[in-house]
Amino acid sequence: MSWEPIVKEQSDWPVVPNLRNYAQAIEDFSWRRAQQELQGLPAGRGLNIAHEAVDRHANTTGNHLALRWLGKNGDVLDFSYEDLRKLTNRFANVLRQLGVSPGERVFALAGRLPELYLAALGTFKNRSVFCPLFSAFGPEPIKARINIGGAKVLVTTEALYQRKVAGIREALPSLEHVLLIGTDQQPTHIPGTLDFHQLMREASDEFTIQLTAPEDIALLHFTSGTTGTPKGAVHVHGAVVAHHITGKLALDLHPEDVFWCTADPGWVTGTSYGIIAPLTNGVTMVVDEADFDAERWYRILQEQKVTVWYTAPTAIRMLMKAGAEIVQKYDLSHLRFLASVGEPLNPEAVVWSQKIYGKPFHDNWWQTETGGIMIANYASMDIRPGSMGKPLPGIEAAIVNKTPDGKIEVVTAPEIQGELALRPGWPSMFRAYLNEPERYQKCFADGWYLTGDLARRDADGYFWFIGRKDDVIKTSGHLIGPFEVESILLEHAAVAEAGVIGKPDPVAMEIVKAFVSLKPGYEASDALRRELFAHARSRLGAVVAPKEIEFRDKLPRTRSGKIMRRLLKAQELGLPTGDTSTLEDS
Ligand code: ATP
Ligand code: MG
Repeated sequence: MSWEPIVKEQSDWPVVPNLRNYAQAIEDFSWRRAQQELQGLPAGRGLNIAHEAVDRHANTTGNHLALRWLGKNGDVLDFSYEDLRKLTNRFANVLRQLGVSPGERVFALAGRLPELYLAALGTFKNRSVFCPLFSAFGPEPIKARINIGGAKVLVTTEALYQRKVAGIREALPSLEHVLLIGTDQQPTHIPGTLDFHQLMREASDEFTIQLTAPEDIALLHFTSGTTGTPKGAVHVHGAVVAHHITGKLALDLHPEDVFWCTADPGWVTGTSYGIIAPLTNGVTMVVDEADFDAERWYRILQEQKVTVWYTAPTAIRMLMKAGAEIVQKYDLSHLRFLASVGEPLNPEAVVWSQKIYGKPFHDNWWQTETGGIMIANYASMDIRPGSMGKPLPGIEAAIVNKTPDGKIEVVTAPEIQGELALRPGWPSMFRAYLNEPERYQKCFADGWYLTGDLARRDADGYFWFIGRKDDVIKTSGHLIGPFEVESILLEHAAVAEAGVIGKPDPVAMEIVKAFVSLKPGYEASDALRRELFAHARSRLGAVVAPKEIEFRDKLPRTRSGKIMRRLLKAQELGLPTGDTSTLEDS
């Protein structure tokens, strides 16, 4: 694949980037210095996420707008850093009064409501463990996660409780308190529950965060479940050092920014970069309650004067599907930095955004397990479309291969594919998979954390995603990453989405099969299929190009927006579909 790099001249910088020179930043970096950007709790009481995110700023720039909430029906609520300080103090007091101790789990099952954000930060203050769940989960995934996590408290809404939790309440033995976010500020009267707002009103808005050790557990996050049963990744308060510095260096957050992370806190991006990193960096963050809608999104970017926008490839592809014309109706001139995460970002999308918005999307890579961005395209660095960029300062990333006797061999030559590995020791690394010590141990070998993703590094140090280990296709002696094939299909004007799998074949071992959904205005037909075959063959060669193409209205995705290739494969082979608790339409 050949794509022209997007070259950035210093004269193009609208704001001087926090990371001005990559090589210099690597040389100057130490985690100790990164930690010094934070304050620490007064009187040497340690390091607490909520203090760094909220109280630290409330004490200095308390009137600055911290959170602007956009309700799906047009309501707008504003919270300054001082407002957040008081309200999260109240929630911490609520927990304390309910007898919730440090280390005990507080779950949230709610849409993107202000209360969700207050609960998260208040939970950190009480040194309890916060675990956000997607509000769209059905009763079974809710039950499984609450029981795995041993939730003591659940914060949810009246509607969600009645629809999804009341019926399984008996099967949730650890759950002692359910706090309901009522409608219209009216107290709720459902047996066995408490009223969130009433408790908040009665609680004091003063709270002193007690000694918080950097290794104290702060967060429990379930992975997206793209490859199988979701795992509960455990994160500590010390992770805030990584949240903060990666927000500053990879997303280029400056205190005067208006930042919009479109992710739901039900997956890790929506917490690390939808709550913590923007606040530790002192920005104004926008939270939109509504789901994706192209016009709404452009209106938000315009009206809120968003400067930094962090979203995901699925959303970007949906915006591409919505077309370039509607963009003309909006003033997006405040946008300064665009970033993407969650799935491979196909080169076409980067080039499209450069053409249509005048700014490229910056892909970055990380996982629930890493807690924060590990590899990124920076504001000051040229982009090679299709590449994830280069490791963050403080992060040692390598391409490795496991030898037959289980040793890890680091690949030093460029352009060789292997597993992407990280040197343990960065602050936001997960500390456990809850209740699964063996699964955790298996992720580490020879002093490396093995990510389960395959990648390669070019001669200039850029990392390129190939695919998940589970998704790689072996055909006629070749290893093919689905991303490469999907990216080429996505170049075609008719293609909105593509998912590629290996289909077992007696001769070739596997053949490449593509599932494709189309943009509005295109009809599935044999002629179009032939055109796609020809396009793919001319770009990829006969070995790598798909042998089969099937049209679908849409592709199965996780709620965090990732194509579930394992499901496409299971459906293709008529096999059991496995864990589908995070499937978008389940
Ligand atoms: P599970 O581990 O339960 O199967 P998951 O891996 O999808 O789910 P997450 O932790 O949300 O859960 O996703 C991390 C994964 O997403 C990465 O390991 C990688 O496969 C993919 N990913 C994230 N960002 C990128 C990116 N920029 N380019 C390519 N892949 C990415
Ligand atoms: Mg994973």
